[in-house]
Amino acid sequence: MTQRRRLALLAVPFALVGLTLPSPAAPAAVPPAEAITLQPGAAPPQPTAKRLKLRVLLDDSYPPYTFRTPTGELQGILPDLWALWSKRTGIAVELVGGEWGDVQRRFNAGEGDVLDTAFHTAERDRLYLFSAPYAKIEVPIIFDSSLSGIRDAASLRGFTVGVKDGDACIEFLGKQGIDSLKRYPSYEAMIAAAARSEIRVACIDRPPATYYLLRMGVENRFRASPPLYSGEFHWVVRQSDEDLRDMVTAGFYRISARERQHITEHWLGEPLLLSRLDEKIWQRIGLALLMATLIGGLLLVWVATLRRQVAAKTRDLTSALANLSANEFRFRTLFDSINDAIFLHDIETGRVQLTNRRAHDLFGYEQTQALTLADISAGPPPFDSETALHWIRETANGPQMLEWLARHRDGRTFWIEVDLRRVVLDDTGPQVLAVLRDITERKESEEKLTRTIDALTRSNTDLERFAYAASHDLREPLTTLVRYAQLLERRFGERDPQIGDLVGIIVTAAKQMMRLVEGLLEFSQVDAAGRGFTLVEANRALTVALGYLDIAIQESGATVTASPLPMVGADEIQLIQLFQNLIGNAIKYRDINRPLQIKISAQHDGDFWDFTIADNGIGIESAYLDQIFVIFKRLHSHGTIPGVGIGLALCKRIVERHGGQLWAESTPGIGTKFHFTLPAP
Ligand code: ADP
Repeated sequence: MTQRRRLALLAVPFALVGLTLPSPAAPAAVPPAEAITLQPGAAPPQPTAKRLKLRVLLDDSYPPYTFRTPTGELQGILPDLWALWSKRTGIAVELVGGEWGDVQRRFNAGEGDVLDTAFHTAERDRLYLFSAPYAKIEVPIIFDSSLSGIRDAASLRGFTVGVKDGDACIEFLGKQGIDSLKRYPSYEAMIAAAARSEIRVACIDRPPATYYLLRMGVENRFRASPPLYSGEFHWVVRQSDEDLRDMVTAGFYRISARERQHITEHWLGEPLLLSRLDEKIWQRIGLALLMATLIGGLLLVWVATLRRQVAAKTRDLTSALANLSANEFRFRTLFDSINDAIFLHDIETGRVQLTNRRAHDLFGYEQTQALTLADISAGPPPFDSETALHWIRETANGPQMLEWLARHRDGRTFWIEVDLRRVVLDDTGPQVLAVLRDITERKESEEKLTRTIDALTRSNTDLERFAYAASHDLREPLTTLVRYAQLLERRFGERDPQIGDLVGIIVTAAKQMMRLVEGLLEFSQVDAAGRGFTLVEANRALTVALGYLDIAIQESGATVTASPLPMVGADEIQLIQLFQNLIGNAIKYRDINRPLQIKISAQHDGDFWDFTIADNGIGIESAYLDQIFVIFKRLHSHGTIPGVGIGLALCKRIVERHGGQLWAESTPGIGTKFHFTLPAP
């Protein structure tokens, strides 16, 4: 706190009593001394002396008791008191101020009637008559704040102590053996000397010390010891002037306590907490201010740190936001470029929460238009929005895949495939992701295919019926033809051998035709109703087939080996037919240059049994491996190897009817291996 500020604070009490601070040099309102009564006696003395004028000598540098204005006028508590004394007594008072030592010398030389502001000393007691004390004054040592240990008179040894000329302190210190003194004519001069470090310790009454230190702005550079002693202010007269003492005393009795208080408060100010602040309090205030400054500083640092953190966080958030919008843009671009319509639904209400561009295009709505479940599920029941909501909710139990008849905004209906899945994308709970695909074209092709299959099935059935009817009905006339041709041969063959030959040709052709017709009949009967599957022992079917082929096997000298065959679900007669045809072909298309070997086996292959009939016959060119299964397709003329080209076609039909496949592997000159598969039971 600056000195000006402190003086301003100290000026408050003056303002309270209606006065202003006279000037910067005016006394500070420091209550430096304890005021005591001016009238010790109960009754006023009765003076006999009578005077017209009183000359009072006093120290003119003892604020706030007596000191001078900047223009040299005396002012303070004592001038005001003596003025009032004069007013009450009618006796003029001449105040003569000066340096204290000088003033005492002049008084002792008889220059004045009264000497004021005197403490008791032994010498003065001898010379003067003392009034009752009117103020109690503490006398401490003022010392430079860089010193320590100044507590009492003894601790002053080794220092040159500043004193005021004529001050009671000189006698006090002398008694304590302190005689290294530097004398100054006034307290003001002494404090000025201390301020310029001429002396570092000084003995001084507290009131003027406080005043001058503050006024010179050096109060922080000095400290005060505990009081060395306290003295009391008195006015004195010479020993011989007893009457004068009584007269002066009687005059002071005319001044009321209230008036004195008024004068004192005028110069000292009213007690104020601040005005009583001693060094310790100032230190505490300083410490508090320091703490406040420190806390303020820390707060500033903290605020700056917070600001930096906020700025960093803001930067992070801004960049995260930028990333987020970049991601959002990427997601949107990708999402909108997907060719399937995508909807995100609330799993409970079915409310549409997110859609991509294709979703709007598919149903013919603007991109900006929010879609509802009713918009996209406006088909006829059961393709209405209620049913759609049912399926959305059903997704909670597992994914759903539906074909759905949707309604376009323009009113037309079309087929979509809907893939519903439960997803959890955030903490708002599960949602349903619906992926919709337009399957109109597929549906149309399926319908077309179904229609074609229906037509084919119908035409196949018709053909089968025709083949059956034709072959069945042809057998009768063919049999008649053969019978009568043979009759003709018997009757006329012996007479004319040419007729015999011709009839022979007719019979052969008719028999071939008969085989064709039978083959055809057999072929058309493969799918005939009533031929169900049972669990069949393939071994037994093979044995039966080999029995039918017994003569051919013997004639060809074939060796047939078979590994154990499994049980299969089959039409037993057709399984026998299968073995019979395939083994019959192996015999028919054997290589006459080597003994025929036929091997039959079966292997488990996944859900099927893979049967093989392998021979070491003439083999088949690979180019014909597919053609041999076409009906009536033969690789050999009937003249070389007999046959009608129905056997393998029949076998293929039987195998496919059982849900299996038939194919051949072959190497010409080495042999052929036929495979057929049947489902494992
Ligand atoms: P077909 O035996 O009456 O001619 P298939 O339908 O049984 O009629 O056989 C068709 C053709 O396949 C035969 O003409 C023959 O050329 C060939 N083929 C069938 N089986 C064998 C085989 N094991 N080895 C060689 N060729 C065969």
